Formats: sequence, structure tokens, C-alpha cells
Amino acid sequence: MVTLLPIPIKNRHIPQKRLDEQRQTNREVLNEVLQRVLQPLTFKQHPSAQSGYYNVLCADGNFRHCKPVVSAWLADCPEYSDLHNLERHVCFWCDCPKNELGDYVHPDKQHPRRDHNLYRTLSDANTKAADVELSLCHVHRAFNVFRHIPCIVSDLPKPDLLHTMQIGMLDHLQKWIFHFMKTHKQLNKYNAIWLSVPAYHDLTPTNKSYEEVSQWNGKEIKEMSWYLLGVVTQSLRGGSPAQHPIFNHAIECTQALLGFYMYARYKSHDDATLSYMEDALHRFHTFKDVFLLG
Ligand SMILES: [Zn+2]
Repeated sequence: MVTLLPIPIKNRHIPQKRLDEQRQTNREVLNEVLQRVLQPLTFKQHPSAQSGYYNVLCADGNFRHCKPVVSAWLADCPEYSDLHNLERHVCFWCDCPKNELGDYVHPDKQHPRRDHNLYRTLSDANTKAADVELSLCHVHRAFNVFRHIPCIVSDLPKPDLLHTMQIGMLDHLQKWIFHFMKTHKQLNKYNAIWLSVPAYHDLTPTNKSYEEVSQWNGKEIKEMSWYLLGVVTQSLRGGSPAQHPIFNHAIECTQALLGFYMYARYKSHDDATLSYMEDALHRFHTFKDVFLLG
């Protein structure tokens, strides 16, 4: 099934109150559309073992008795928030406090998953106390069709390389490195090395420096990831003794995030590759302050 969801126009130059009202309307329209699209999957009053099945015409021309279920979707971070009717800039998987977003969390100390059944109960209760509780969880009090479908809502969003890594973390890393080079007066050297990367096999390096490209797409960032570490390492060779530890941390951080990305692209994983990813993630968090505090 393919559905085109309404995309509201961007209102950048209107008063905040009017903007908030428009956003509220946009959320209601989106939830209304989703409700209509997903109506056949919602809880029935008296579900039976046979309910929810349809005769579906399959690609081979045969009809099959099928029961559609919502199992996963891919979207970017703001889209996930809208689909789940959550406030922006919160985690859509777990109850991580806002001030801990971006921190390293040990696998054994993960925050509990979001409880969308609780949000449904609180929304239905429609009391002041319930509203306060919802707002503490950064949830908009309104109908959300996913809370009425038999599935674990917090399991639906799946991380994907394009949104999470390429136009997500690797895009941040590029910005961080650019400002780091500028702050430490290595930008000319960095740009010169960047532009001198030769073509190799199926790699065609960009003939523009980082600042000359207004927006990087996923494919460009993927190709950039093959040579970024080499360019950063060469750009930070030398420097004063006081700069050595700072430059080394910048290289370590770049190496760790690119390593994590390379492992994430494996088609399958075992305990060893997962432990390499965890180690790379831990090293990234250990050294990232070199970019954030500079
Ligand atoms: Zn989370």
C-alpha cells in the first residue's frame, strides 16, 4: 500500500501563537489521515481469530488470505515525532530525559521503552493530572491511531543508514571537522588535501570543498566517508606540542564514528561485529568533546 501523507507548507515568518495553532492543526490532519488509512488494522470491539483477514491479489496473479500488520517504517527524526504525536527533539524509542540525549548509554542501562498504551489511557482520561503526565513524557494529548493498532509502537521505527548515519551523524561530523579546522587554523591545508583526493575505482571525489556544497546528499556523504579519515589525519600532522593531544582526539573521534558506520553497513552481524560497533560507539563518545567544546 502506498499513501501520500499531507505535507504542510512551511510557515517561517508568522507570530509564534499563530505558528503553534497551525502546527496543532497539522498534527490533527495527519492523525486523521493516518486513522482513515489504517482503519482496517485498528482494534475491533470483539476480535475473533478470523477478523482482519482479506483476500489479497498477489504479484503472481493468485489471491491469498492475508492479515496485514504494521511491522516497521523508515523516516527521519521529525517525521517519527509527528507520526507518534510526540514533541520534537525527544527520543521516540525510549524515555531518555532531554538533557541526556546524545550521551553514551551502556547496553545494560538502556532507558525503558515508551509506553504508548499508557499514553492512550492518559489521553482518554482527559483530566488535568493525565495532561500533566503526558506533558512530562513530551507527548501531545490527542488521538494517535498507532495506539489503537495491535503492535508495539515503540518497536516500529527502525534506524536506517541514510537518515541515521549519512545525512545524520556523518553530516554532523563533517560540520564539526570544518569548524575544528577553522578554529585551529588548518582549514586551508584541509581544503587543499580534500581537493587533491584522486579518483580510484568507483570513487569520484567531489571537486568542491566542504563549504562550497550547500547540501550534501546520502551518496556524496557515503563516498566522502571512504577518504575523510585520511584527509583529517593528513591535515592534522605536525602542529605544536600543545596541539598534539587535541589533534589526536579529533582523529580518534573521526575514526571511531567512521568505523561504527562501516560496521553498520555489514549485511549480517555476530557477537564479535556487534562488540566492535559498541566499542567504536564508546570511543566516539569518549573523544567527541574535542569538537563540541572547542
Ligand atoms: Zn532513546
